[in-house]
Amino acid sequence: MQPAIANPLDEKLWQALQTSHLRLASHVEFSQQLHRGQLWVIIHDPVRNQFYKTTPEIQQLLQSLDGKRRLDEILAAQPALQTIVQERAQALKILAQLLEAGLLQGDFKYDYGEDLERQRQKNRLLGKMRWQRPWMLKMPLFNPDRQLDWLYRKTRLIWSAPALLVWLLTMVAALVALVDHFPQLKAYWSTRFLDPVNLLLLILVYPLLKAVHELSHGLTTKKWGGQVYEVGLMFLVFMPVPYVDASGSTQFPIKQQRMLVAAAGVMTELFCAALALFIWIASDNILVRDLCMNVMIIGAVSSVVFNGNPLLRFDAYYVLSDWLEIPNLGSRASLYLSKRWQQILLGVEPEPMPMAEGEKKWLLLYGILSGTYRLILSFTIALYIAGHYFFIGVLLALWAAVLQIVLPFGKGLAKLYEVAKTHGRRPRFFLAYGAILAALYAGLFVVPVRHATQAEALLRVDGGYQIKAGAEGFLQEILVHNGEQVTAGQPLLVLQNSALPAQLDAVLAQIAEMEILLSRYLTTVPDQAGFYRDQLQRLRQEESDLRESLANLTVTSAVAGRVEIPAPDDQLGRYFAKGDLLGHVLTKDAHRLVALVPERLGDGVLRDVQRARVRMATDPGHEYSAVDLQAVPQAVAQLPDAYFGSRRGGAISVDISDNSGTRALEPYFQVEMRLDVQDQPPLAGRGRVLFVHSDEPLGLRWLRQLRHLLLQRFEI
Ligand SMILES: [Zn+2]
Repeated sequence: MQPAIANPLDEKLWQALQTSHLRLASHVEFSQQLHRGQLWVIIHDPVRNQFYKTTPEIQQLLQSLDGKRRLDEILAAQPALQTIVQERAQALKILAQLLEAGLLQGDFKYDYGEDLERQRQKNRLLGKMRWQRPWMLKMPLFNPDRQLDWLYRKTRLIWSAPALLVWLLTMVAALVALVDHFPQLKAYWSTRFLDPVNLLLLILVYPLLKAVHELSHGLTTKKWGGQVYEVGLMFLVFMPVPYVDASGSTQFPIKQQRMLVAAAGVMTELFCAALALFIWIASDNILVRDLCMNVMIIGAVSSVVFNGNPLLRFDAYYVLSDWLEIPNLGSRASLYLSKRWQQILLGVEPEPMPMAEGEKKWLLLYGILSGTYRLILSFTIALYIAGHYFFIGVLLALWAAVLQIVLPFGKGLAKLYEVAKTHGRRPRFFLAYGAILAALYAGLFVVPVRHATQAEALLRVDGGYQIKAGAEGFLQEILVHNGEQVTAGQPLLVLQNSALPAQLDAVLAQIAEMEILLSRYLTTVPDQAGFYRDQLQRLRQEESDLRESLANLTVTSAVAGRVEIPAPDDQLGRYFAKGDLLGHVLTKDAHRLVALVPERLGDGVLRDVQRARVRMATDPGHEYSAVDLQAVPQAVAQLPDAYFGSRRGGAISVDISDNSGTRALEPYFQVEMRLDVQDQPPLAGRGRVLFVHSDEPLGLRWLRQLRHLLLQRFEI
């Protein structure tokens, strides 16, 4: 933050400086950096660990301050410094900053009380800024420079080029191993992560790994002779995490050095995560594997998501800003955006800001992306906490809303109004903001938006039609393949029984013999013909049974549906008795689905369902629709099936002290429905249902949800 100096005061201050004898404090350090082809000088005050950026001419001026000559004499003696006299704003700013910091000594007598007061106010405001993000408080502890020097001498080999090569190779190996073992890792994570022992380990591992992370920032700073002035504790969502102030690297002249210092933390964490992966693969001890999994989650996932994200002011931000050679990328981006806004909204040309070649597009891009992202992140964190600790979360959400929207917006508005007033653009100001408000209102309360609720689901496939052996025999051929769609009457399997034709032949011979006998008795002894008639009838029955069995050796389906024969290759050649089960034909209504909708979303969600779309975990690319929705009106925490619960790999968190794995942590509405299967029916298992509702303006929906949440919390 630089003190804003008003123009009339500038002139007075400049005059006062001209006649004073100034000398620069001896401990001030200079270093040079190249930003976008332009040479800059970094001034470092090691006592307060402050950095100032300026031009080589001003450095020359500062170095010629000897405390004996007056400033105007010095300037007159050096023609090279004449540009400073002409464009004095920059020189004035840095001189005022150095005076304020006590780095310029001499007989300077000037009451810039007004400036000072403004600066103090700004500092007080900065002090307050620390509380703007209550999930990130800082507590400085001590100066670790000597200890780091000692540690750097002991670990010098780690911070070398060959070690960087080792790091790179390890990363490649770990990536290959990760792809190989990902399914096992995922399965292990889903069963172990929520275990209390594992959560305890996680809380222990987190600060340790972060300590290693910070240490590597410090030691990489040491590699190029930088100073580290401060270590401390940061409370990240109330968890203590160590930090090292590695801003000493700001002075490094080569940008790759500064980038490496900023990246060292994440690189070290990734290395730890890679080692943990190798140990996880090799070990079968559950405690060791839990430990490794936590190192992987923190070192690879959380470090990349937070520290590795340049949109947040963590490590990757500094890497990016050094790489782009745009110092103060974040604050300059917001300054640039506000100037552009003023130009677009009021048509008033803003005061130009010094800008290097090609900076503009980066400032614009970064300003928009990081602003949006940070806003979303603040609210997501607040809402997450609200979901678990309601009142704290609501307070945090309000806090975030006030500090990140209301205050900056109000301040910007006031400033813009000031500009509009001085340039006589007041009507345009009100017109523009009126239009914005109208658009906002329309967007929230008029334009209907598609809206859907997602729910976890489990697909059950009922038995359906049973494929049974119609006659005893060996399974010779399967005419259909698993999953095939068949029609009623279509042949499915062929059984083979070589005894049946022989038996039929024997019976046919007996029948022929019996017919001759019968005709003979009918003509000679009609009284005794009855016995033979009965025999013949019995044989004819046997014949028809045998013919039926022969026909039944080809098994057909009585219904239309999809064939499911378990392990068809193993069944071939096996012997089956009549009536043995060979498989199923699943009819259309065999696919029944149960979905669970959290009660907190309100039962209104289920009252307005236009369509229900289903995706199964086994085949997420294919979408089905569900019909005949029937919701159970009472929400319960008891899950209908343990497969929904996290204990059995489901997505719904369950009480880990409950052995059945069916006690959910919150109540759910149960919705039963039937899957409308067209061609390719899915296998039973987990899936997700998307309940598509009627279109509704966003604002109305949010209001309704808020009302529901309040009603539920306060049980009015
Ligand atoms: Zn870091």
